[in-house]
Amino acid sequence: MRVVIIVLLILAATTVSRLGNVPAAMQPATQTVQAGDTWTALALRYGVSVDELQAANPHFNKARQPAIGREIDLPDHAVERSGTLIRTGGAGVLEVAALHGLPVWEVARLNSLESPYRPTFYRPLLLPGDGTIRDLPPGMTALELSSPMASPGRALGLRGTTTRVGETITANLDGLPVSIFSVDNRFAGIVGTGAFYRGGEPELTIQVGDAPAWVQPWAFAEREWEYQELTLTGQAAEIDQQARDEERARLREIWTAVTPQPLWLTQFETPLNDVLGITANYGARRSYNGGPYLTYHEGVDFSAYGGTPVYAPAAGTVVLAEPLYVRGGTVIIDHGIGLYSGYYHLSAVHATAGQTVQPGDLLGEVGTTGLSTGNHLHWDLLVNGIWVDAAAWQQDGLACWLLEGIGRACLPPSEPE
Ligand SMILES: [Zn+2]
Repeated sequence: MRVVIIVLLILAATTVSRLGNVPAAMQPATQTVQAGDTWTALALRYGVSVDELQAANPHFNKARQPAIGREIDLPDHAVERSGTLIRTGGAGVLEVAALHGLPVWEVARLNSLESPYRPTFYRPLLLPGDGTIRDLPPGMTALELSSPMASPGRALGLRGTTTRVGETITANLDGLPVSIFSVDNRFAGIVGTGAFYRGGEPELTIQVGDAPAWVQPWAFAEREWEYQELTLTGQAAEIDQQARDEERARLREIWTAVTPQPLWLTQFETPLNDVLGITANYGARRSYNGGPYLTYHEGVDFSAYGGTPVYAPAAGTVVLAEPLYVRGGTVIIDHGIGLYSGYYHLSAVHATAGQTVQPGDLLGEVGTTGLSTGNHLHWDLLVNGIWVDAAAWQQDGLACWLLEGIGRACLPPSEPE
């Protein structure tokens, strides 16, 4: 009886998959664009011409590479094949074939060239191999992004491997610097965009040593934000703008210094064990006393009883531990490679500047010092001087993803007490 049921199930499964194939064959297959999926690489991988690929995707701008994260339609006759795409600069087929120990005519045939003796200057060449055909930055053998599609306010990561060990890797997202650190042939890096980042399809530019720069747009998803109307009265309304500006300028100097290596060793834990709730998320648009929404909430607000202990979420160096005018009792931790976390409105500060902290070390106690209307912890996270979403950083597991990128094991977070 059981055998009969299994056979029936297999038959049912086969029928469903067969039916499922009918509309799939009529509709072009789609593919999420990843780093290195240039028009040339996609055309070579699927055995179609760049013109055919662009004709199947009329909504894409032909003058730019396809944006990472977008869905691209493949022509009906697309069949995936493997290989290695190389950009040789000046070297032609003869030189490349000799260098890789391959028959010249095979390389010519693979690249649809009538003769290996014709010059192919600056044209990418395909070599046989098992890998996915991608057009990576010259000098790189792998490149991976932390999320296929980016979104504003999130810390974004990249990691990969290079053949040019010891050479400096530089990268930026439409001018925003990416902090990069390497160990041997591996590298990882982070970039932060703020909650007001315009998004769209900014260009990611990467360069290894003096090799030519590589550029590909990265698509940003729209993000929903909260809107908050706040009314300031009394002391909070009579804010001393000069004191506020001075505090900000001093902190900016701290936040933009970059320690070259990551100091954290674990996933980031939540800095409080006893939380009553989250009263304001990162990125919430704020209007004060009926004015326009000109600012956004730069951190996460945890509501907690006064005196609740605040702990370091991950390892780092305390770079500031003192009372400030706006932020009240403050502790700021440098986690390395331009990543800083901050803890504000503390009623007591127990850390000291210069101290090395481990996850779970006591930083201070929840309070309502500075410009604050009740006991809470304001927790913020910055990448290269730009506020990013600390909650998303935890959710995305980026701390470990980056460490794994340079071949370091990430220790698991300890259980909350
Ligand atoms: Zn806050």
